[in-house]
Amino acid sequence: MSTHTLSTDRVPFGSRELADAGRLLTAWAAASGRGRVTVTLNLLSGLVFLTNAEIGMTYALNGAGTLEEWVACATCHTDGFSSEVGLNDFGDCALCQTLTP
Ligand SMILES: [Zn+2]
Repeated sequence: MSTHTLSTDRVPFGSRELADAGRLLTAWAAASGRGRVTVTLNLLSGLVFLTNAEIGMTYALNGAGTLEEWVACATCHTDGFSSEVGLNDFGDCALCQTLTP
C-alpha cells in the first residue's frame, strides 16, 4: 500500500468511512486495544483501518465485522487480512511460499 494513497485527514472521510471508523474504534476498545492508533483511509480502495505505528500493526474489520490484522507480503506486497494472506515467519504470502525453493 503506497503511503501517498493514504490519508489521516478528516476531509476525505465520507459518512460511510466515518461509520467504518466508528466501528473500528469500538472493536478496538472492545478488544482492549492498547497504544495509540490512527484512523487511516486508503483513498484508492476506500478501506478504513487502524494503524499502530509503535508496534507496526494495521487492523481492519473483516467480513464478519471482527477486528483483524491487515498484512502485506514482504516479497510481492500483496496485502489483505492475515487469515487470507497467510504470511509465514519470513513475511511471505502463501503464493510466494510455493515459489520459494
Ligand atoms: Zn507474496
